[in-house]
Amino acid sequence: MAEIQSLCVFCGSSNSGPPAHRAAAARFGALLAHSGIHLVFGGGRVGLMGVVADAALAAGGQVTGVIPKFLEDIEVGHPGVTRLLVVDSMHTRKRKMFDMSDAFVILPGGLGTLDEMFEVLTWKYLGLHAKPIVIADFDGYWRPLLSQVASQIQNGYTAMEAQKMFSVVDRVEDILPAIESARVPPAAPASERL
Ligand code: AMP
Repeated sequence: MAEIQSLCVFCGSSNSGPPAHRAAAARFGALLAHSGIHLVFGGGRVGLMGVVADAALAAGGQVTGVIPKFLEDIEVGHPGVTRLLVVDSMHTRKRKMFDMSDAFVILPGGLGTLDEMFEVLTWKYLGLHAKPIVIADFDGYWRPLLSQVASQIQNGYTAMEAQKMFSVVDRVEDILPAIESARVPPAAPASERL
């Protein structure tokens, strides 16, 4: 797999999550900077988004935020990032974040994080890309969601190979190794799964 230069983090914009998640997000931001990996994120100063960006910047990392104009006020566009791209819509934001990134990491978050995670996951499932996706399951936060995906597979709504399209880790230190060892699954055409 080619070296990861830019990595996109999807995570919550809420400040009300568990302190342990904030601490883990901060460790990950610093780790990215120390690893020389450019952070791409949603551009907000709030929630885990702000925590990851602040930690990466404090450790000397490069950070690009991508935020739609209308959200700049609500999520308080981060003023200190290396580059803040203000775009016209949520769709443009996600497309831009996708194009700029070699891999995706999902930290704990809410509805927006789910939307972002499932977009990169479903695009991979449809064979539109092969970039690594790692879910950081701190304290089992994503377990109910992973059970849902397992239920979909069990009931025949989702192909078994979907499970090979993402990795799940429970520690910050395991995220980058999981990305490095991510392998492109054998690409069955999406039509064969219908
Ligand atoms: P949340 O996980 O809900 O705190 O949101 C995390 C990020 O996802 C924030 O930057 C939100 O602006 C963004 N977001 C919220 N809703 C959506 C959506 N429907 N599509 C794409 N991104 C969203």
